[in-house]
Amino acid sequence: MGSPMLGFNSIEEDSSTLKKNKALLSSLNNQIRIFQNNWAAGNSTNKILLTTLAGKMLSIANQINPPVDISEVAKIRKVHSIILSSEQENKEDAVMIPDLNGFIIKIPENASLTRNRFSVAHEIGHTLFYDLQSRPPSRLSTRFNINKKDRKEEWICNDFAREILIPQKLISKSSALMLKKPSIDNIFSLSKLFRVSPKAICWRIFRDWRMWSDTAVFLLEDKKQTRFNSDTAYRGKILHYRIFNSKSLFSKECLQIIDKAIGSPSLFSKDIIQLNQRFFHFEVRCNRINKRLICLVKLLENKTLEEFS
Ligand SMILES: [Zn+2]
Repeated sequence: MGSPMLGFNSIEEDSSTLKKNKALLSSLNNQIRIFQNNWAAGNSTNKILLTTLAGKMLSIANQINPPVDISEVAKIRKVHSIILSSEQENKEDAVMIPDLNGFIIKIPENASLTRNRFSVAHEIGHTLFYDLQSRPPSRLSTRFNINKKDRKEEWICNDFAREILIPQKLISKSSALMLKKPSIDNIFSLSKLFRVSPKAICWRIFRDWRMWSDTAVFLLEDKKQTRFNSDTAYRGKILHYRIFNSKSLFSKECLQIIDKAIGSPSLFSKDIIQLNQRFFHFEVRCNRINKRLICLVKLLENKTLEEFS
């Protein structure tokens, strides 16, 4: 089982936290009703509403410093147990099971801590699509195309998970400074601080906050993965266009560093984009334990893409 700090155990029902925050809780439930009505009406999800919901849950759960104790947040949505399970041997995903008392979330014991924290936050997102008044909680009925909606729900739950685990309001002065300076070290420091994966941090920076516009980050997350593709790249506004239109990103020397770091000469040369190093700051880092590789490319200060195009 996880440590008490992560709260994967010792979940009590009806904690005093919940009582203290009755007013906040009723305000949260009102907002959730608005969210659910929007959803039932087929309206697109309001991102600000999602941020508000996450913010209220964090307040009720007394989360004022990172890392967020995700089990405290889960309690608010009637998740009474989070258990490590060996059943999901070949899967890294969590499952949520409604029962008479609310929900049980099962997380795979072989998945990483950051992965499981994200999975739990994602599953809490799914509780927004349930009526918690009924016993067991029941799915909201909808009149829309199920497949299309399902996929959309997954996106919403991922967006929600990032709002919960990397909340804007828990960004301290020192975190804000790190966010101002694109670097691999800062990605790692933030991922350690919030106890999330570097990938989650990159999503937050590039997708949610639209920061680091002159930077691109590449992640090789899987040992079997041998090339950088669009799924593993996070690009700011400025570098987005350039990288997509370049023939090669990295010089031969850079490629050798990457190959050495990965431990196999498996990168494809056509994936390599030649960079003019007079214009770019370039970093490569490999995690020795799981061989995960991260590359960061940043346009040097005072340079514009016009200068070399
Ligand atoms: Zn899901």
